[in-house]
Amino acid sequence: MKRKLAALAAALAALALAFWLAQPRPGPPPNVLLVTIDTLRWDRLGAYGYAAAATPVMDALARRGVRFTTAIAHAPLTAPSHASILTGLLPLGHGVRDNGAFVLPGQPTTLAEAFRGAGYSTAAFVSGFPLDHRYGFARGFDTYDDHLQRGGDARRAAYVERSAADASRSALAWMNGARRPWFAWVHYFDPHAPYEPPADLAARFAASPYDGEIASVDRELGALLKAADTDAAPTLVLVTSDHGESLGEHGEATHGVFVYDATLRVPWIIAGPGVPPGRVSDVVARGIDVLPTLVDYAGLAMPAGVLGRSLRPAANGQAMADAPAYAESLFCSLNLGWAELHAMRSARYKLIEAPRAELYDVAADPGERRDVLHAHAREAEALRGELRRALETRPPDAAHEPDAAARERLRALGYISGTAPSRATTRDPKDGIVLVERLERGLAETRANPALAIRELTAFLAVEPDAPLARRHRAIAYQFAGRYDQAIADIRVLDARASLTLEDQTVLAESLRLAGRHDDALAALDRAEAADRRAPEPLLLRGRTLRAMGRDADARTAFERALALDPANAEAKRGLAELALGRGATGEAEALLQSIVDADPTDVPALVKLGVARMRAGSAPEALALFERAVALDPRNAEARLDLAAALGKSGRSADAIPHFEKAIEAGGRTTAALNGLGVARLESGDPQGAARAFRDSLALDPSQPGIADLLRRVSGGRR
Ligand SMILES: [Zn+2]
Repeated sequence: MKRKLAALAAALAALALAFWLAQPRPGPPPNVLLVTIDTLRWDRLGAYGYAAAATPVMDALARRGVRFTTAIAHAPLTAPSHASILTGLLPLGHGVRDNGAFVLPGQPTTLAEAFRGAGYSTAAFVSGFPLDHRYGFARGFDTYDDHLQRGGDARRAAYVERSAADASRSALAWMNGARRPWFAWVHYFDPHAPYEPPADLAARFAASPYDGEIASVDRELGALLKAADTDAAPTLVLVTSDHGESLGEHGEATHGVFVYDATLRVPWIIAGPGVPPGRVSDVVARGIDVLPTLVDYAGLAMPAGVLGRSLRPAANGQAMADAPAYAESLFCSLNLGWAELHAMRSARYKLIEAPRAELYDVAADPGERRDVLHAHAREAEALRGELRRALETRPPDAAHEPDAAARERLRALGYISGTAPSRATTRDPKDGIVLVERLERGLAETRANPALAIRELTAFLAVEPDAPLARRHRAIAYQFAGRYDQAIADIRVLDARASLTLEDQTVLAESLRLAGRHDDALAALDRAEAADRRAPEPLLLRGRTLRAMGRDADARTAFERALALDPANAEAKRGLAELALGRGATGEAEALLQSIVDADPTDVPALVKLGVARMRAGSAPEALALFERAVALDPRNAEARLDLAAALGKSGRSADAIPHFEKAIEAGGRTTAALNGLGVARLESGDPQGAARAFRDSLALDPSQPGIADLLRRVSGGRR
């Protein structure tokens, strides 16, 4: 009996120990990392069954955590969808309905505020302009890093995105010094169009560069997780996306217009302390469930009014009732005056409410190819009831008029944001998708291929002649094509029909400046400045115009005023630096250029100018290093090549200079200075025949160079 009791006691003790071991102990709260990968379709990850994927990091994360097979975003646009992720509210609840034209209102508690309120240090690292701090996303973050890169492509707007490598680097630098526990949100933008993966992945994914961008993000996410999620400091990690990409489905190239699963279905993977490994859940996850789920895992109090729900029970393998997901796109409505699109999606069916409604059996037909509205009227009616209830919410007024520079950056990403339509119609976006695609192609190619843009926008205007958006952007395309009179004529049409926006006025002023009509340009800028006293753009343009007129002191005042309005404005600093270099104030130029480079180490024009300033200050080795960095970043930049070649030549390294002179000339820098430099370098390297060829080419460009003619005679004479 005694033996039996002892055995029982031992068994009980073992059981108690096992129970105690299984209990979550209140250890230090975990760090929490939210990763949103912009424009990421669910079906392009290895973990979701895509054989051609190169996503080992996300696949491994899914293996050691929980993968939700279906996750639904609430809008196919960056700002509205992220606002839902960060607040647990639908667009109807937070009021952000489009990119660029709305600011997140101050009422809803954000994910960052919930974490900061619980003693976490908080930081965000965003990589696309739609999430700029001006749109209200920074609330609750101690650090909100939205420093975007200028970008090397002159045909595209500057400061619209940054690379995954840069985002990971910035996030890691912060995490290394951050007070624990921390909450960080890292947003990667690479899979967004245009699809331009880094060189090694571009070669591997030549046939599908979109997949190459995803592979690139996966690699950089790997670098981040390696340092941020260690055994000593395990991190709760949630990876998801704001929307997918149509890639041609339903006639849509990118995203934003439609509410099909091509752009609404995204991956959803969670792993870390408290999350069981290797589970796959078929419970439908939603954007609004991100906040409650993370708050639940971190043991924080749930903010009031949140509409989403924690998916922790599903992650633990428990059944959860299906919660339908609402989605919307007001893109065509807000920008073109067409019909709004609203959708309600259960795990089985999706209803799309439009002038011509649609119903899809998304379980059996994930590509949404067969409309079953008429065969399943009862299911449609049930979802219609859900949708009607959701739409009873009156969204807060979050509208915000973007300025000209903001519009340009949004346009560079393919968004047509912010222009109120002149009159509303009930056109179903399904019927207008070909037209929208022409418009978007026109907007995307405004700078890179103005002839194509003019053709597409003219076609659009033939159908929608009152659309100010198309006419405005055709004016910009005309400007980039050098057809200034036609650009000015388009703006005058807008002026006759309605009041000009600030952007119209700056386009007008820029066209006038480029047409050499400087006084008219200044008059247009007077109007632009009067329209918005806080916008730096007209002042930057005034500075450039005055400089072209030789009025350097007045130009300086204009740039200084722009800098006072926006103390981080790199273009204002650049204007001042160029003026300083012009009047020999090398030290001042150096300080300005250095601050541009500090904020954006990839700003090639600033690196080159800083090199010139260092060269003048007598620091040739530093100048050489700067030119080399510029050339490494942008090998086709003729100015950077030429400066590097000249600096090498002056440092007595003529042989090294020769290939750079040659490449500068190849890259479009065929000037007398480049040819003469090449000639001298060849001469010094013992190649008088090559030198003679370069001098002859130079004299062909400009025969009135007596010094060069003399050199050529002597070189040729030496040969004879
Ligand atoms: Zn996005």
